[in-house]
Amino acid sequence: MKPRIGVLALQGDVREHLRALEECGAVAVPVRRESELADVDGLVIPGGESTTIEKLLRAFDLWEPVRERLRAGLPAYGSCAGMILLADHVVGGTADQTTLGGLDITVRRNAFGRQVDSFESDLAFAGVDGEPVHAVFIRAPWVEDVGPGAQVLAAVGEGPAAGRIVAVRQGGVLATSFHPEVTGDMRVHRLFVQIVRDALDAEPGHHGKG
Ligand code: GLN
Repeated sequence: MKPRIGVLALQGDVREHLRALEECGAVAVPVRRESELADVDGLVIPGGESTTIEKLLRAFDLWEPVRERLRAGLPAYGSCAGMILLADHVVGGTADQTTLGGLDITVRRNAFGRQVDSFESDLAFAGVDGEPVHAVFIRAPWVEDVGPGAQVLAAVGEGPAAGRIVAVRQGGVLATSFHPEVTGDMRVHRLFVQIVRDALDAEPGHHGKG
């Protein structure tokens, strides 16, 4: 059975994620309302503007429902703004910015600074086999601090931002500073689809075999 994975469709590059998830063997659906959220086995929070997505989540009465499902163990993948929303702590945000949480990390918003607002870099990515992942960063956050709950999957290898952490995982929650949905390399999405499948298989009483 194919896992059913939602893409939060309030703002950002929703279509690219839907396409990537479908290519990786999931049924991908946009999520804009609570009934759609209730139906998914995993959720992608795309890039965009984290403060805007926060406001829209509240306006669409999705803030608490998403938090509740995350607390209950819903697998999630956040890219860029999505990473910010999944972080327990954010620095460099607006004064009233809050997050959904779920990842034991502190992210720094717009971290790479003016000169390197947008850049590309090849990364070794734990859990992704083969050649390095070509990462596209667009006004991206980095992970400033990682708590004991979270695991580092990738850091920038070279240049002014060398050593900066840009991919993490905590149980079923995955986040990247960059946008794998824009490169045509599906390996990060494939990893997330596998995380969702594993979570479904571990559910008591689940009998679908992916
Ligand atoms: N700078 C954006 C934010 O703070 C994130 C950018 C992105 O998602 N590409 O939310």
